[in-house]
Amino acid sequence: MGDDSPTDNSIQPEQRCAKCGACTPVCPVFRASGNEIHSARGKQHLAEVFDDQRPGPVFEDIYSKCLLCGACSQVCPQHIDISEEVIEARSGFSGLYGEHGYQKFLARKALSRPELLGAARVLGKTAAELLFRRLPPASGLRLRLALFAQTPKSSELLDSPLRTEKISSVGGEITCFPGCAAQYLYPDIIDAISTILGRYDCQPAIPDGLGCCGLATLASGKTDEARQMAEKNIKTLELSDGPILVSCASCYAHLASYGKLLADDPVWQTRAKLISERVIEISLFLEALIKDEMIAVEERKQGLKVFYHDPCHLRNQATITEEPRKVLASLPGIELLELADGPQCCGQGGLFHVGAPELSAKIRDNLADKIVDLEPDLITTTCSGCLMQLKSAMAAIDKDIPVIHLSALVNSLSADQSLQP
Ligand code: SF4
Ligand code: SF4
Repeated sequence: MGDDSPTDNSIQPEQRCAKCGACTPVCPVFRASGNEIHSARGKQHLAEVFDDQRPGPVFEDIYSKCLLCGACSQVCPQHIDISEEVIEARSGFSGLYGEHGYQKFLARKALSRPELLGAARVLGKTAAELLFRRLPPASGLRLRLALFAQTPKSSELLDSPLRTEKISSVGGEITCFPGCAAQYLYPDIIDAISTILGRYDCQPAIPDGLGCCGLATLASGKTDEARQMAEKNIKTLELSDGPILVSCASCYAHLASYGKLLADDPVWQTRAKLISERVIEISLFLEALIKDEMIAVEERKQGLKVFYHDPCHLRNQATITEEPRKVLASLPGIELLELADGPQCCGQGGLFHVGAPELSAKIRDNLADKIVDLEPDLITTTCSGCLMQLKSAMAAIDKDIPVIHLSALVNSLSADQSLQP
C-alpha cells in the first residue's frame, strides 16, 4: 500500500480517489487495452461522473474487465480496495451477470469459440468431458472453464456429508486443501505433495466434504454463494486441528481472507479467523522442509533454467514473493530466471480469461514472449489458474516448455526421476 495514513472507509471509493494515477501503469488491463477507463482511476471516474447511469451496460462492461489482481491497491495512497469495489459492482449486474445470464453468456461464448475453453482445449475433448462429469456442481473450475450448466443451489453446497471424527494430527497426517484444479485437473500436484510428505512418514489428509474455496464464485459477484461455500469449508476444516496445507496460491489467499468475507457475522468471522491462522501456503511449507533438511535434493550434473511466475493473489494480496524463490535457490543446479521489468500478471484472472478472452490472451502472450526470451527449461508457479494460463500460453506459441507446480518440481528434483532439461 502507498502509505499508512488512516482511511475513512465510510466515504465512497470514487470520492476518496485522489486521481493521482499511481494505479494506471501497474494495471495489466490498461497496459493491454491502452484505455484508461479500465484502470482503477478510470473506474473511479466512471463511478463519479456517470453514477446516475448505474446499473447499465457501460458499467457492466467496464467492471467486468478487471482481473482482481490487486496491483492497483498495492500502490494506492488512499488504500482503495478495487477488488472489493468490483465484486460489489458485479453483484448488482443484470443480464450478463444476472440470474443465469453470466453462465449463458460464457456458455454461448465457449460454444461459439471452443478456444475459450482454456485448459480444456489443451486437455482435449475426452479429458474435458471426463472433467465435466467429475466436477462437483459448486466447483469454481466450472466457472473458470465455462463448464457449467447452472448455478449451484445452496443445498448442493451444504448437504455434502461431513466427517465427524478428527481427521489430522493423528498418525502423522496433515490436513490438505488442494483446491479444485489439483483434485480434478492436475492430480500430479497431490501426488507430489504425498510423496514429499511420505518421505518423513506423514500423509496428506483431504477431508470429506471439502469444497471449492469459492474465489471464482465471489469474483462473479455471487457473494452469498461464496459465503456459503466458505462456511461449508470452515465447518469441514474445524473437524481437524493443526496446520492446513494449501497447494494453490489463489485458494490460500482466499482461505486467509474468509474472515473479511464473513465480517458481518461475528461468530462466523471468529471461526473463519481460526481457520485462516492454520493455513500454510505451499512454498512456505516447502521452504521450511528444505531448511530443516527434511528434503534431500539431488545434485544435478546439468543446470536447469527455471522461471518462477508470481501468482497475483500471492504477490499482491498475501505478499509472498521471497519464499518460492528461496525454495528454488536452495535446489542445487537451478538457475532462477527473472523478468527485467519485474513480475507480471498472466491474464487468467479467474473468470477474466473467459469473459474478456481477447484482452486476456494479449496479457498472456505479452508475458509469454518475455518468458520465452529468457530461454527457460521449465516454468513453475503455485496457482492452478496461472498453471492453466501458462500451459495455454506455451501451447498458443507452440513452445514445448513444461509448466509445472512448484511441489512437482521439488519432488522431481528430490526423487530418483530427475527432470531433464
Ligand atoms: S492510486 Fe488510488 S487514489 Fe490514485 S488514482 Fe488510483 S484509485 Fe485513485
Ligand atoms: S485489480 Fe488489477 S486489473 Fe483490476 S483495476 Fe486493479 S490493477 Fe487493473
